[in-house]
Amino acid sequence: MTQRLLFLGPPGAGKGTQAQRLAAAQGLLHLSTGDLLRAEVQAGSALGQEAEAVMARGELVSDALVLAIVRSRLEQQQAAGGGGWLLDGFPRNLAQAEALGQLLDELGQPIQLVVLMELDDAVLIERLLSRGRADDNEAVIRHRLEVYREQTAPLIAYYRERQLLQAVEAAGTVEAIEARIAALLT
Ligand code: ADP
Repeated sequence: MTQRLLFLGPPGAGKGTQAQRLAAAQGLLHLSTGDLLRAEVQAGSALGQEAEAVMARGELVSDALVLAIVRSRLEQQQAAGGGGWLLDGFPRNLAQAEALGQLLDELGQPIQLVVLMELDDAVLIERLLSRGRADDNEAVIRHRLEVYREQTAPLIAYYRERQLLQAVEAAGTVEAIEARIAALLT
């Protein structure tokens, strides 16, 4: 069974929604670096203070910081007896992907599947504008899409070469997309 996977795709593609549903249905640990960073900002921790301004500009927080967050969660899970996981919003550039690969080698937990959620820019922008999060105004959204194209999109080829990538069309109802993703899991 597939129980170690990651979701890839542009902001607004619905990764968070689908990741949450799949993780709940399959009993996987859902690790969203965006959610974890927002929780740190909310808590006013040193880490959150470091991340807040960067996130508000739509740029990526430092690789070391997000890697430390993911590492501690995955190590915690393994120490507690292990289990499957779903990474959402991480990795976001090649350096993070390399670092993740190394961490997963250490843990003996290789990725089994990368789900790429694909959607047109026009629909992405519309969805993000209606969401109304602090970093969801039009200028910042356009910048996040640029950052995605420049830094994150190269991961598509990276995981395709490793024969881990499967793409799904991310347009339609939440349930329809959920069914497309479920069909990829065996
Ligand atoms: P979205 O899916 O809409 O892009 P996220 O909740 O995944 O939103 O991320 C929001 C912000 O958090 C990003 O724009 C970035 O500043 C920061 N962030 C999240 N994950 C990472 C990561 N892996 N590396 C660097 N920054 C990240």
